[in-house]
Amino acid sequence: MQSEEQDQEHDLSHQIYHQQDQMKTIWRAMQELKLGADKPRWSTREETQASFEKDHKLCLVAKGLNPDHRNAPGLKISLPKTWQLVGKVESQINDDETVNFYFKTEHHLLMVLGNQPYTYRGWLVAIDRWSNKGSPSFLKYIPFKIRILGLPDTYRRHSIVEDLGSKLGHVEEVTIVEPTSNRPARVSVKVLFDVDNEITLARTIDIIKDQPPVQLEFRYMGLQKFCTLCGSLRHEYELCQEFPKMKQSQYELMDKGTNPYTTAEERKAVIGKYNTLRRLANHLEWRSLCNWSQHKKHKQQWDS
Ligand SMILES: [Zn+2]
Repeated sequence: MQSEEQDQEHDLSHQIYHQQDQMKTIWRAMQELKLGADKPRWSTREETQASFEKDHKLCLVAKGLNPDHRNAPGLKISLPKTWQLVGKVESQINDDETVNFYFKTEHHLLMVLGNQPYTYRGWLVAIDRWSNKGSPSFLKYIPFKIRILGLPDTYRRHSIVEDLGSKLGHVEEVTIVEPTSNRPARVSVKVLFDVDNEITLARTIDIIKDQPPVQLEFRYMGLQKFCTLCGSLRHEYELCQEFPKMKQSQYELMDKGTNPYTTAEERKAVIGKYNTLRRLANHLEWRSLCNWSQHKKHKQQWDS
């Protein structure tokens, strides 16, 4: 008997819940009626629009270049610390993982733009004015100071250095420091570097026709992490399309190296190929570490 009563009670409560559920669905559907959509348009107050415009005059947008390390909440906290502007800059995360930074003074905004490049967890961050949104160049360039090493003094001329810099990016500034008795000469360019281009750390260049080529090296100030296989600023070497080639040569090496029927020449060829790839990866990684420590030293000198 008791169990029958319980059953009835259960049925009743189930019915009530069921009805409540149905009501919820109906109410939800009612709200999708778009009631009012065909009535005259509303507009926001003029002062609201003026304040929106004012806010965005002093607004910078930041975006981490490597999508796997583009942590917008992290960027939001870390950048004001790097700029030493904690509490002096407001920020807001956008849907596309970019972060808007609202400055109170033009002076702070210009200082931030002028001290680029910035990194987040080692990966570069592109920064641009909010007002540049919609332009094809938006968040597309990183200003880099690049030192050019190995340029013979004969070629230490503005036009030559500018030409060499133009291979790396859009040249904004050329600096040639002449040598003194206690300091060697220095050659550098400041370029706007396209974030979709690859980093070039060394190159052989024909400067003057019929003259011997020159081997140059390039040091990007402030550069930390990049793909050590192809030079991209957007991925780690494990995710590079060149990586399977390296893996392949590793397997090839293991296969040929342990196969008793492999000839000495075959084995030598595989080892050579693998070593070249590995050397390239290590060399680039080492270079990036050197650049990083130089940049750190430079920053420390700057800070002190
Ligand atoms: Zn790569």
